[in-house]
Amino acid sequence: MLPDLERLIRLQRLDTTASDAQRTVDAIPSRIDTLDARLTASSAAVDDAKGRLGDKKSERAAVEKTLAAVQTRLSRFREQLMAVKTNKEYTAMQHEIATAEADVQRHEDIILEYMLELDDLTAAVKTADAALTASRAEIEQTKAALLTERGELERTLARTAAERSTLTETIGAQARALFDRVSKQRNGIAVVEARNGLCLLCNVRLRPQVFNHVLLNTELIQCDSCNRILYHDPNSRTAAAPTVDAP
Ligand SMILES: [Zn+2]
Repeated sequence: MLPDLERLIRLQRLDTTASDAQRTVDAIPSRIDTLDARLTASSAAVDDAKGRLGDKKSERAAVEKTLAAVQTRLSRFREQLMAVKTNKEYTAMQHEIATAEADVQRHEDIILEYMLELDDLTAAVKTADAALTASRAEIEQTKAALLTERGELERTLARTAAERSTLTETIGAQARALFDRVSKQRNGIAVVEARNGLCLLCNVRLRPQVFNHVLLNTELIQCDSCNRILYHDPNSRTAAAPTVDAP
């Protein structure tokens, strides 16, 4: 194989590895943001449940206060009943007492309803709290894994950059310039395998004499359609591919 072609293939592999690693690294902050947003939502659900519980408790306290006032009034009426002088006063007082008793009953019923609602709201707080604890643990774990992954990817990037700079020094100026130009034009992919008469990236069918030259791996041949530098990989045999030994 032409030495420069072999080096360009390796250079392309390094670039592809680096660009994959870089893309993953670049996506990590937004993945962390998504995790943080989930945590914020879980935490807000707990606050919301606690808020509803607190509101209901305040409502109950207000009803209890009213009930206490009604009970005080009822006791006073009962005391006054002892002191009445006339039948008319007695009847009027009994009427007051009956009204107050009904009022007490009504408020006690409301408090009973509130107790049931408070049970539900307390259970909701507990559920939301448990969900928050679980998601916090899971999110912390995922974040730690992401940071580990980022560390590994950054080491990969450093390693590929070092290998790249050593490798490029060994490549002829013309081949390097061609690689750089095509790579820039073609989204970082300058070298691509041709197989079964096709450029494997743009899928265009190569003219037979072009493909026959590619099979030899002795020249830098570009795809007519995408301009990428083509090579033949003798290890990726398929039924339709003619077998040509690389020189
Ligand atoms: Zn092509």
